[in-house]
Amino acid sequence: MKNISILGATGSIGASTLNVIRQNPDLFKVHSLVANSNVLKMLEICLEFKPEFVVFDNMFAAKSFTDEISKTPQKVTVLSGYHHINEVATHPDVDIVVAAIVGSQGLHSALAAVKASKTVLLANKEALVMGGTLFMDAVKTHNATLLPLDSEHNALFQCLPKDAAGRATSAGVSKLILTASGGPFRKHSLKQMQNVTLDEALKHPNWAMGAKVTLDSASLMNKGLELIEAHFLFDMRADKLEVLVHPQSIVHSLVQYEDGSFLAQLGEPDMCIPIAYALGYPKRIASSAKTLDLSKIATLTFEEPDLVKFPCLAYAFECLKVGKSSFTTLNAANEIAVEALLNKQILFKDVPILIDKTLTHFSSQDLNNIDELLEFDQQVRAYTHSLI
Ligand code: NDP
Ligand code: MG
Repeated sequence: MKNISILGATGSIGASTLNVIRQNPDLFKVHSLVANSNVLKMLEICLEFKPEFVVFDNMFAAKSFTDEISKTPQKVTVLSGYHHINEVATHPDVDIVVAAIVGSQGLHSALAAVKASKTVLLANKEALVMGGTLFMDAVKTHNATLLPLDSEHNALFQCLPKDAAGRATSAGVSKLILTASGGPFRKHSLKQMQNVTLDEALKHPNWAMGAKVTLDSASLMNKGLELIEAHFLFDMRADKLEVLVHPQSIVHSLVQYEDGSFLAQLGEPDMCIPIAYALGYPKRIASSAKTLDLSKIATLTFEEPDLVKFPCLAYAFECLKVGKSSFTTLNAANEIAVEALLNKQILFKDVPILIDKTLTHFSSQDLNNIDELLEFDQQVRAYTHSLI
């Protein structure tokens, strides 16, 4: 029986993780649940999964949750604040940490879990893009196990060769090809892109996800962040990373080998599949996902991404050439832009403009430790804010 801590339990990845745990009650026990402020959702989850700890970042939410849970027979320790989030993420009883907080807010706890040498199942790509080399160095130094939940990276992990310890290697690999659905605006003209509304951008054709990643998918920034995620996770050079638009979202990514072979992972677009793979690794366990019927799908298509219509993806390719702090700049500018878009302060078309201006403003520099990283990140955020 493995004890699981779910950071971001009330979100979309949290729900899929709990669904896989529900299918495998003999394998996993929920140790702790973390969220920001969604009290009602947490209450529902807590009553079903009976964790030992519930932690909210927001202290008013923790107070309100304590009031609500006291009306039930359920006994649980309720805490608040990021120190306590780190405490459960590093708790000696925890075997697996699911890092599924959205955005840079998830960096501290994901890194704390890594430094406690936990098995970390990473959904929170922003933490890795922002932390980059510092994050991966911590994984190596503390001998943590980092398994990707992002469907593309999970697919790549499944298709890559492994060493004796079960880690992915790049032996014989010539390219990693990340697939992208193309989002809701795949067929839009450049002119139509100027008039896209927030509501349209929030409707993903294939995946049901949280608001931030859905908007990132509409601008293809999500694929840009994923390119950088793949670069760090698999230690892969920029010229060995490629993106192909695959609107059916059935092939979740491909590894191209030196002998001309391609290995791909296929499945329904359901996050329970990569989550079950990572939770059970190296064993296969039940995921609850529908089985793929290829004869019904019949056609799988692939096309080059349009970097003019989706400049955010072009910026990520540029950052891969520049390296260093450019990843932190890209991530921070995007987070501020997306927040402003959700708050209706800017339009969808303004997102790449803000990112471009921010990338131009900051030259790329070495960030030698977490304090330097956090300070630089704050500077970037303040600058992008000043443009809004
Ligand atoms: P959601 O918006 O659905 O959920 C976000 C979760 O993070 C919620 O539980 C939220 O709590 C919690 N949270 C937010 N801020 C804080 C904070 N300061 N402290 C503690 N918890 C916090 O996002 P998703 O589940 O869609 O995405 C999560 C991550 O996974 C993102 O990085 C995303 O890019 C990545 N990902 C998601 C995929 C998907 O299919 N959804 C696919 C691949 C990657 P509350 O509800 O209380 O606000
Ligand atoms: Mg993905």
